[in-house]
Formats: sequence, structure tokens, C-alpha cells
Amino acid sequence: MLVLDRKAVAGLPTDRLLDLEEDVLLPVLRAGQLHGYRTTEYVKDMGTPSRLAQVERDVLSGVVERRNLSQAQKAVFLDRDGTINDHVGLLVRPEELRIRAEVYGALNMLNRSEYLAIVVSNQSVVARNLCSLDDLDDIHRRLETMLGEQHVYLDDLYFCPHHEHAGFPEENKAYKVVCSCRKPKTGLIDQAVHRYGIDLADSYLVGDTTVDVQTGKNAGLRTILLATGEGGRDGKYSVQPDATADTLLDAVEQVLTTRGTG
Ligand SMILES: [Zn+2]
Repeated sequence: MLVLDRKAVAGLPTDRLLDLEEDVLLPVLRAGQLHGYRTTEYVKDMGTPSRLAQVERDVLSGVVERRNLSQAQKAVFLDRDGTINDHVGLLVRPEELRIRAEVYGALNMLNRSEYLAIVVSNQSVVARNLCSLDDLDDIHRRLETMLGEQHVYLDDLYFCPHHEHAGFPEENKAYKVVCSCRKPKTGLIDQAVHRYGIDLADSYLVGDTTVDVQTGKNAGLRTILLATGEGGRDGKYSVQPDATADTLLDAVEQVLTTRGTG
């Protein structure tokens, strides 16, 4: 959706066809007067009769109202490594990122549903000084680009850069702290709840480790443990998930049919 001030189109040539991006938005962008509002609320192109009909159905069925952030939201929280991308130990370079094949289909289903798709990830690579926050941003930009190329997206992504065990010569001391966001603590989820008003009892955490399951339990989420990545074999916590799934796609199908997750 785009809102233009009259001044943005004043003085444009009228003797030829114009391109919205090239002729209108780019000059405004260059002048530093283009502003964006990022939201998970209902925003759809309704520029064709069939799209307009879909939007009308969504208004009547209450979808538009339910996605308004004045209402409690539902979310599927997703782990990153071993859940979205192949588990390669410590991922420190964008080129190492390999998105698992089934993730595109899983996110496509989530993006069409009323669940937000929000990543919560421990990234102690920063505290260990294996990569900087800028490097991590590069990895996440690549992740969002690769997903976007397949027309799927994450609604948000939260990560913990910390690690509590200090005393290594190469570490980044600023991040070697006991924090409240490293899973299985719930700080990352708390941030998302604060931002989006998420109803935890109506939401899920899907991941490949017992740390994820423990995080979900600590936060009051329903949990699904995946067979991908570490497949729960990390053995850090003695916890049982509410359900198990072969892949993220299987997990999302379970969420959307609420099969086996009570
Ligand atoms: Zn943290």
C-alpha cells in the first residue's frame, strides 16, 4: 500500500507514460522522503476483480479484523539452525546458509494462515567472536532474500548474541554475559509478545533440540520437536514435546489441522 503526497506527483511530465518506481518513487527516495511502515497486519493488493473478491471475503470472514494488532495474534515460533537451514555447526558466513527444501512449502502455508512466522535463534557465534553483529545481519539478509525469491517470508526474526561462559581469550566480552534471551530462557519470545500481542496458549514453538522444547514449555507454548537437524538428540533437557514431526512442513500441517497437539 502506498500513500503519496500531492507534491510527489506535481510537475511530472504528462506527455509520456510514467513508471511508478522509476519516475515517482525513486526521486522521493533520493530526497529522503520515502518512509515505510512494516506490519504483520492485513495488507493486500486488490487491483483485479478476483483479488478484490478475495479481500471482500476476508473482510466478511473476519480475517482482516483478526490480523489487526489490537487483537491477540497467533504465532508459530521457529528455531533457525536445523529447522529452517541445514545444521552445519556454527554458521558464520552467508554462503554457508542452505535452506532446507521443505521450508518454502511450510512457510507458504504459514504465510497464508493466520499464524505469524517468527524465528527465535541462539547465535552465540557473536559472543564467541566468530562473527560480528554485522556479519549476522548479512546472514539474515541472505536468508530473507532466499525466502523472498520463493515468495515466502518471515514475519520477524529475533536472536540472542550472548553466551554465559566467559574466560576464553578470543571472546567478545560485551556479549559474554548471563542474559534473559538465550533459549531456553524466554526473552526472545517475550520481545515478540510485546511487539505483536501474541496469545502464547494459542501458539507453537517448532525446533530440532530439547532446548527448543524447554523454551516452549517455559513460555507456555505448545511444542513440536522435529526429526531434522539434531532431531532432539542434543539431550540437554529431559522434556517431552507435545508432538513430533518429520520436517517443518509436517509440523505446520499439524498446526493448521491441530492434529495431535491438543
Ligand atoms: Zn541473550
